[in-house]
Amino acid sequence: MIPESFNYQRASSVREAISLLQQGGEETKILAGGHSLIPTMKLRLATPETLIDIGGIPELKYINDKGDYLAIGAGTTHWAIESSDLVSQKAPALSQAAGQIGDVQVRNRGTIGGVLAHSDPQADYPGVVLALDATIVVQGTGGERTIPVSDYFTGLWETALGENEIMTEIRIPTDSANANSCYLKFPQPASRYPYVGVR
Ligand SMILES: Cc1cc2nc3c(=O)[nH]c(=O)nc-3n(C[C@H](O)[C@H](O)[C@H](O)COP(=O)(O)OP(=O)(O)OC[C@H]3O[C@@H](n4cnc5c(N)ncnc54)[C@H](O)[C@@H]3O)c2cc1C
Repeated sequence: MIPESFNYQRASSVREAISLLQQGGEETKILAGGHSLIPTMKLRLATPETLIDIGGIPELKYINDKGDYLAIGAGTTHWAIESSDLVSQKAPALSQAAGQIGDVQVRNRGTIGGVLAHSDPQADYPGVVLALDATIVVQGTGGERTIPVSDYFTGLWETALGENEIMTEIRIPTDSANANSCYLKFPQPASRYPYVGVR
């Protein structure tokens, strides 16, 4: 399966990515780990003219303790979340969900921002971030805004992300409920996507 031809641009900062997104218009898409977008393009369900690769932007990859919340860069991989001591102490449900995503190749490339922007309700993180009462941080030409996760998912593959906005951070409250959370799933045997995920 071969996707339609497309232009490829590599951004080295969030600011540059936003600017490229704005210049590119409607048929331009962000590429992070590529583990949802590329298969969709191969099936020709998506045919973007231009991809802006944000996978090499260091400022999107971090896990920091901010006291009241954990700040996780949108470009942080599932593997980095799964193997973080901070996440396993403060939000074990998130760490356990990350560790059960697909296989090791998917976890090494796929990002939390990619999953939440793709907004496939079948994925592991959406249910978890809703249960943990996360906040989504986005940046666009108008600056930064924060979206409570309860307002973020607006439908199947639909979110409150604006056209020229990039998700930059996911904030997970570090309260005692989240510190005592746990994630279990009943996986589909071939894809490992959950049939049911319970916090
Ligand atoms: C074989 C296989 C098995 C899998 N199994 C599971 C599973 O068990 N559970 C599960 O939850 N997932 C699973 N996945 C999906 C995987 O987790 C993907 O990594 C994830 O869905 C997308 O993340 P990505 O970084 O690859 O995003 P991409 O594919 O690069 O992008 C996905 C979408 O998000 C947009 N996007 C990405 N980052 C941003 C950003 N920062 N701001 C704005 N828009 C952005 C892109 O434009 C695109 O529309 C599987 C995938 C594969 C290929």
